[in-house]
Amino acid sequence: MQNKYALVTGGSRGIGRAVCLKLAQMGYGILVNYKGNKEAAEETATLAKDAGVAAEAICFDVANRDEVKSVLGGWMESNKGKVIEVLVNNAGIRKDTLLPMMSDDQWDTVLNTSLQGMYNVTRQVITAMAMNRYGRIINMVSLSGLKGMPGQVNYSAAKAGMIGATKALAQEIARRNITVNAIAPGFIKTDMTADLDEKELINMIPSKRFGTAEEVADLAGFLVSKNAGYITGQVISINGGLYS
Ligand code: NAP
Repeated sequence: MQNKYALVTGGSRGIGRAVCLKLAQMGYGILVNYKGNKEAAEETATLAKDAGVAAEAICFDVANRDEVKSVLGGWMESNKGKVIEVLVNNAGIRKDTLLPMMSDDQWDTVLNTSLQGMYNVTRQVITAMAMNRYGRIINMVSLSGLKGMPGQVNYSAAKAGMIGATKALAQEIARRNITVNAIAPGFIKTDMTADLDEKELINMIPSKRFGTAEEVADLAGFLVSKNAGYITGQVISINGGLYS
C-alpha cells in the first residue's frame, strides 16, 4: 500500500492527529496538513512513521484557495506515482459569540476554514480520486451543525453546510467507489475544548464524560475500511448519547 496516501487536514493536533495515527496503522502513507504548528505536525508525522509507513507534514491554509492549489497541487504534481485515496477534511476552528456581537472576521474565518476549506481541498483531489475509481472522504462536522448551538451561529452554519455538501457529493461520486461521509462529534477532549467547563458540561452528556480523539479516530478508521463500502452520504454522530 506504499503508494496509497491519506491526507488529513488539521492533522497536527487533536482529532486530526489521532486520525493520522489510526490510518497509519491501517497502512496508509500519511500527509499531515497543518496551518502554523510545524512542530506538532512533524511530531504527528514521526509518530505515523513509527507505524512503518511514509509520512510527511504539509503546510497550507485550507481557507486559502491559491495556497491549496500551489502546495497540495504541487505535491500531487511531483508525486505522480502516489494516490491520495483517503481525504479527511478535519481542519476547523471555533470563534464563539452571540450573533449581535459577531465580527465579520469571526464569521468569515470560521466559514472559510471549515466550509470553504472542505471545498478547496476536496476540489483539488477529487478528479484524481475519481480517475482512480476508489476513495474515501470524511468530513469532520459537529453536533453543532446538526442541532445548532447558541453562540455558534458561524460554526453551526459552517458544519451544516459541510453536511449538505457531504450528502450531495456522496450521490455524485458513489458509482466511482468513493464514499463520502461526515462524522459529527459531541464534546471531545482536545485543545479546541480546553477552555470549556468540562465538569459542568458532562452533566448533560449521558456518558458523563468527554470523548477522546482516539474514539473519533476509530470511527474514521472504520469508515475508511473496505468493510464500510456501502455506507455513504451519512452523518455518524459520536457524542456519548448527547441528544442530537
Ligand atoms: P484542534 O485540537 O483545535 O486542532 C485543530 C487543527 O486544525 C490543528 O491541526 C490546526 O493546525 C488545524 N487548522 C486550523 N485552521 C486551519 C487552517 N486554516 N488550515 C489548515 N489547518 C488548520 O481541534 P480538534 O478538536 O481536534 O477538532 C478537529 C475537528 O473536529 C474540527 O473541524 C472541529 O470543528 C471538529 N470537532 C471537534 C469537536 C471537539 O469537541 N473537539 C467537536 C465537534 C467537532 P495547527 O496545529 O497548525 O494550528
